[in-house]
Amino acid sequence: MKIHLDSIGCRLNQSEIETMARQFRAAGHEIVAQAAGAELAVVNTCAVTADAAADSRQLIRHLARAGVGQIIPTGCWTTLQMKEAASLPNVLKVVSNLQKDDLVSEFNSESKIPNLEFETEPLARQPLPGLQRRTRAFIKAQDGCDNACTFCVTTVARGAARSRPLAEVIEDVNFALAGGVKEIALTGVHLGAWGQERGIHLRDLVKAILDQTDAPRLRLSSLEPWDLDADFFRLWENPRLMPHLHLPLQAGSESTLKRMARKTTPASFRALLAAARTVIPEAAITTDIIAGFPAETEEEFAETLEFVREMGFAGGHVFTYSPRPGTAASRMRGQIRLEVRKRRNRILREALAESAKVYRRKFVGRKMSALWESVTELNDRGWQMEGWTENYLRVRAAAFSPRWNEVDEVELVEAGEEGMKGRLVT
Ligand code: SF4
Repeated sequence: MKIHLDSIGCRLNQSEIETMARQFRAAGHEIVAQAAGAELAVVNTCAVTADAAADSRQLIRHLARAGVGQIIPTGCWTTLQMKEAASLPNVLKVVSNLQKDDLVSEFNSESKIPNLEFETEPLARQPLPGLQRRTRAFIKAQDGCDNACTFCVTTVARGAARSRPLAEVIEDVNFALAGGVKEIALTGVHLGAWGQERGIHLRDLVKAILDQTDAPRLRLSSLEPWDLDADFFRLWENPRLMPHLHLPLQAGSESTLKRMARKTTPASFRALLAAARTVIPEAAITTDIIAGFPAETEEEFAETLEFVREMGFAGGHVFTYSPRPGTAASRMRGQIRLEVRKRRNRILREALAESAKVYRRKFVGRKMSALWESVTELNDRGWQMEGWTENYLRVRAAAFSPRWNEVDEVELVEAGEEGMKGRLVT
């Protein structure tokens, strides 16, 4: 069967869709880049903001208009709105997050197609058709979350925290490496909770990947600050672990963090960053912040802004607070007017952009390694490459030959608005 796969939202959704591609191929299906001509489409939907939910609905309608006769929506928006998802055109069935791991095997058995052992096929690095060939693989290590941050719909949609067995994660890492990727990115809903139900910690998984695989570059995706301690940062004594920490702050005001039910405070967050910078002084620390959380006063906003400036982040995302159905925050009094939320968002983005610029400037004149993710032919003598340094700086450089998926030493010669200009060190 010709199957089209698509996902909206986070790296976890992407990682899950890549796993489904591998499973469908193992059962003899063909993964096609375009919806037109596909007999089945699977869409991994997102509900993190109202816009993401709207994009999910729109994508399903678009696939039906493109002529896909059977559509299976899954993912967070689908899990929260099963009835609405089932009512959309050409929907064959809806699959919640909790059933998602069995989506392919169930589809095959319902279509009377034998379920070959998925392990038979390495995590084919044949890229998902239409998607850029991958230099980095997102490997799912964990799902769900036991916290109840009051703004968060993911914890509602993804269910209780659960960790994938270490051996399975190692197997996926080795499959991806066998497929040619040069970087592994570990991902999860609440990655820092990996292993908690077995009395072990994410550090054990990271150590195991560094010891038991040849991953040249290992990157960790978002980590909740309260899961980490000073000792955790000792892992970065291994240069294969990329010096980039994404630690969602969400707010820099203690009272706002309390209303968010976040298990951190400005003081503990500040201490954690100090501990991290003691071991990894030049680490890129990026973050997420919510602008305009319910009842956020001008004073609380000023505290958050001041705190963001103090932390010296290397970048991050600012989200305009979006009330999500089913979350405690959506029922809170003191909802802030949209234009105020947007104004606060703009001010926080400017502050983050400024500290990111300061961070980038520190590396002008330095030599770092870069993994090239895209190459463009400039003329008959040269190629333009774009990629990421180990501390997640976007860098562009020219070369005489295309160096896609190569890791090169590069001298950073200039800090631009968005990234760095580099010169290949030969
Ligand atoms: S820890 Fe993260 S995933 Fe869990 S409830 Fe909070 S924001 Fe949501």
